[in-house]
Amino acid sequence: MTWSKWFVAPAITSLFFLLGVLTLYWFITNKIIQHLDRQHRQPNAAAIRTNVGLIYMVIILIISQTSVSGTAYSWAFTNFQIFAIVFVSYFLMLEIQLWQLLIAIGLFMGINETMGNGWSWLFASVYVAFYFVMKLVKTHHHHRWTDFLDFTIATLFFSAILWGLMGAQFHLPLTTLAWELVFSFFILSMMYVYVDSLLAGADTLAQLTYTTNYDDLTGVNNYYAFKNDFDQAFKKATGTQSPLTLMLFDIDHFKHVNDTYGHLTGDYVLNHVAQTMMHTLAELDSELVLYRTGGEEFTILFTDYTTEQATGLITTLTESIRQHTFHHGGQDLNVRLSVGGTQRQPDDREAVDLFRRADQNLYYAKQHGRDQVKIN
Ligand code: GH3
Ligand code: MG
Ligand code: MG
Repeated sequence: MTWSKWFVAPAITSLFFLLGVLTLYWFITNKIIQHLDRQHRQPNAAAIRTNVGLIYMVIILIISQTSVSGTAYSWAFTNFQIFAIVFVSYFLMLEIQLWQLLIAIGLFMGINETMGNGWSWLFASVYVAFYFVMKLVKTHHHHRWTDFLDFTIATLFFSAILWGLMGAQFHLPLTTLAWELVFSFFILSMMYVYVDSLLAGADTLAQLTYTTNYDDLTGVNNYYAFKNDFDQAFKKATGTQSPLTLMLFDIDHFKHVNDTYGHLTGDYVLNHVAQTMMHTLAELDSELVLYRTGGEEFTILFTDYTTEQATGLITTLTESIRQHTFHHGGQDLNVRLSVGGTQRQPDDREAVDLFRRADQNLYYAKQHGRDQVKIN
C-alpha cells in the first residue's frame, strides 16, 4: 500500500482527535466560567481560557509524547506539537517569557530523555522561534482576510522547517514529509476557522449573558437574575431547612428628585445609590448580591441569614446611604431608604409567599413615615 493511501486513515483519526482536543478544552473552560458566574464571582473569562488552555495543552503534549518517546515513531506527534504551539501563541496569546519557555522545553526533553541530543536542541530552538513569530503575527492582525494569509505563511514556513528536520533525523521518505506538511496546513486552517468562530461566539454569548443579568444604568444584577437566584435559593432553603431572608429597599420620594432636579440627576442618584450599597455590601459579606428589582427598588437575598442576623447589615447599609451626599449638576442631595424584610417560614409554599410578606412590610414602612426598616 502506498504511503498516500495509508495516510488517509491516520489523517482522519488525527483530525477528529484535534477537533476533540479543542472541543473538550472549550467545554471545560465554559463549565468553569459558568460555575463561577452562577456564584456571582464575576469570572475573568479571558484569564481562565488562557491559564486552563496552557495547563491543558501541556498535559496533552506530555501524555502524547511519552506514548511515543524512544520509539522509531517519536516524530508521530509533530503536527500536534505544531498545533499546540500555534494554539498557545496565536489563539491564547499567552505572555510566556523566554526563560519560562526554556524551563518547559527542559522538562519536555527530560521526559523524552533527549537532553544530550543535538537534534532536540535544534528542534527546541525552532519551537521557540515559532512561538515568538506567531505572537508577532497575532499582534499585527487586523481582522481581515490577509490575517489568514499571514497566519498560513508563518505556520507553513515553520512546519516545513520542522518536518525537514524530522525527515533528516529519522530518514523519512519525501512523500511522507509532503503529506505531513499538507496535513499540517489542513489542520492549522481548520483550527483557524474553528477557534475564530468559537471565540466570536463566546464574545457574543458573554455580552448576551451580561445584558440579560445586569442592569445597564447601575451595573448591579437585574430583576431577571434576581428571579432565578430567588427561586433557586428558596428551593434550597426549603430542602435544607436553612434560613433565608429577603430584604426590599425603596428610595423615599424619588419622584421628587426627578421632578425637582431632572431625570438625569435621578439617574445619577440611582447609579450612585447602587454603587454605595454595593461597596458597603462587599465589605460586610462578599457573597451577598445586590439586585435592582424595580425603578428605584433594590433587593438583597440573605442566604443562610435569619432576619436578626441580617438586621445589623441592613442598618449599616441604610446608614451608608444616609451619610452620603450626592453631588450632581451643582446640587447636593440626600437619600433615605425604606426597607421591608422577612424570613422564610415553614408554611411558605412558594418564593412568592416570602416576597409578598416583604412587600407588605415595605408598604407598612412607607405608610408609617418612611426612612425605616420593617421586618416580621
Ligand atoms: P415613595 O417614597 O412612596 O417610594 O415615593 P417615590 O416617589 O419614590 O415612589 P414612586 O413609585 O411614586 O415613584 C418612583 C419614581 O422613580 C417614578 C419614576 O419616574 C422614577 N424612576 C423609576 N426608574 C427610574 C430611572 O431609571 N431613572 C430615573 N431618573 N427615575 C426613575
Ligand atoms: Mg417604588
Ligand atoms: Mg420610592
